[in-house]
Amino acid sequence: MASVLRNALFSLFYPHNCPTCDNYIGDLSKVVCDECLASLPRTEQAQIQDNGTEMVLWGKADSRAAAKKTMHMERAAAYLFYEKENPIQDMIHLMKYKDQPMIGYKLGRQAAMEMQYAGFFDSIDIIVPMPLHPKRLRERGYNQSEYIAKGISDITGIPVDTTHVMRIKNTPQQALQRGEARKQNVADAFEVNHPEQMYYKHILIVDDLITTGETMRSCLRAMKRFRGATFSVFALCKAQ
Ligand SMILES: [Zn+2]
Repeated sequence: MASVLRNALFSLFYPHNCPTCDNYIGDLSKVVCDECLASLPRTEQAQIQDNGTEMVLWGKADSRAAAKKTMHMERAAAYLFYEKENPIQDMIHLMKYKDQPMIGYKLGRQAAMEMQYAGFFDSIDIIVPMPLHPKRLRERGYNQSEYIAKGISDITGIPVDTTHVMRIKNTPQQALQRGEARKQNVADAFEVNHPEQMYYKHILIVDDLITTGETMRSCLRAMKRFRGATFSVFALCKAQ
């Protein structure tokens, strides 16, 4: 995490322009200019039980109450809807593919500032970013979900853990996959380390984008080995 912090400090102290519209940004901790920030399509899901992200993730469990019983899930929410022709489309692209992970860090901070008042982070012990496969991590040079998690951590004070969940299958880009093929590809894609250190914790899993929920469900299946643990999910964006 040292490099994350170093990059964070670098970016906080040097002036920059809005990554989506190129307006100059005076407040250096801001991710985009005020105009672009206001236009981001917020879901307000932190305040809604059985919201769209929860229903996608729960699958067969048809309510938060049922998911709590069968999947040990507490709650889930996305901060934004992923919309084309909106600044968020550019931001996600820059964050994932153009070596600008600080966008993730700042969006994580912004999301936490807005969602903490709904109690979304209450009782969470630890934040686990959705891991990348080591090969993908080497190619990209960073895990964007780790940056989002660090942003949330800076606002909430909840620690980030990147050592207990690993991605052991390098699956193709989800966007290129459909239906059953997608499901097969992410099956058994994750493994856990030292599960006993995570027993009885409330874990917030952080991902950049939720589409079908298959990757997240696969990750949750591996995390069943965290005996007595409960899970919540934060996604930066939810595909509509
Ligand atoms: Zn802008």
